[in-house]
Amino acid sequence: MSAPDRAIEAVDLVKTYGRAARKVRALDGVTFSVRPGIVFALLGPNGAGKSTTVRILATLSSPEAGQARVAGVDVRRDPARVRRLIGYVSQKPAFDPVGTGLENLVLHGRLHGASAATARRRAGELLDRFDLAPAARRPAGTWSGGMQRKLDIAMGLMHRPRVLFLDEPTTGLDPEARRELWTQISGLTRQDGLTVLLTTHYLEEADQLAAELVIVDAGRVVAAGSPDQLKNDLAGDTVRLGLADRTQAARAHRAMGGLPAVTEVDTDGAVLRARVADGAAALPAMLAALHTAAVELTAVSVARPSLDDVYLRHAGRSFADADRTSAVREEVRS
Ligand code: ADP
Ligand code: MG
Repeated sequence: MSAPDRAIEAVDLVKTYGRAARKVRALDGVTFSVRPGIVFALLGPNGAGKSTTVRILATLSSPEAGQARVAGVDVRRDPARVRRLIGYVSQKPAFDPVGTGLENLVLHGRLHGASAATARRRAGELLDRFDLAPAARRPAGTWSGGMQRKLDIAMGLMHRPRVLFLDEPTTGLDPEARRELWTQISGLTRQDGLTVLLTTHYLEEADQLAAELVIVDAGRVVAAGSPDQLKNDLAGDTVRLGLADRTQAARAHRAMGGLPAVTEVDTDGAVLRARVADGAAALPAMLAALHTAAVELTAVSVARPSLDDVYLRHAGRSFADADRTSAVREEVRS
């Protein structure tokens, strides 16, 4: 494992939490690599192992097995050097809500060894860059959620890292703040040549923002590539049918299962999804079969595969379903 052209390399990472009967295998051999200067996403439902992976890469946790290098440096052999080369923005806010934006940034810079003057200059640059300058002298606790996320990211950039880890940077933000953050994050790679590894459980976010991604499910990488590659690997179209209720969906499922053109069918609540080679060509026979089975449709759409379809193919269940089930599991655990 020593490709010098890789900003991040993770090989067979294994991590278990808890003991005996309550053991959780959070990572079960996670392998991926990231080329420099891109936004790379770890996409997965809640509990997939995304934060665990990022914490290992950021030297905050150690794996039981496997190896990882960040900017060419082994995280276990030289964690102090890795820490100087990276910025890490955790899922939970890291700023002090009582301090002003400026104070938070300057303090963070000084913790990384910058002089007061250097820290103030760098803080000024970052406040401008993230459009936070007008609010700089107000306590960060009074800022909007979007501004607070930008402050956390700016803090992670104070010491000019080469690799930036963002753990669920847009979770909980409204769509407008999310889009603004996407623009800021892609600017970091395009203008500054930074490598950004972010985690997300939003399919759309990985699709829009990431040049490359891995889909993580239950501690394993189930798919890797660019969003387009992953979607193109799934030949054919997806036909989505909206049904009145689950009973109708079950009846539609049986009707679709009998059609030669349909290669895969699954239902999620009252929505049925069928994979076919050519959506337009298959649709008439599908509608006829539904009519014969006395199934009423509320909606029909034909689409090229989405990342959701990619996930479904590799993980065997829909992304929304996985996110729901694991959210319930996490609640029970805590
Ligand atoms: P994600 O970030 O993808 O939601 P995590 O990496 O946080 O997933 O968690 C992966 C799995 O490890 C989950 O099942 C979670 O409950 C478990 N886990 C994470 N941290 C701990 C911990 N400190 N103690 C016990 N279990 C943990
Ligand atoms: Mg997480």
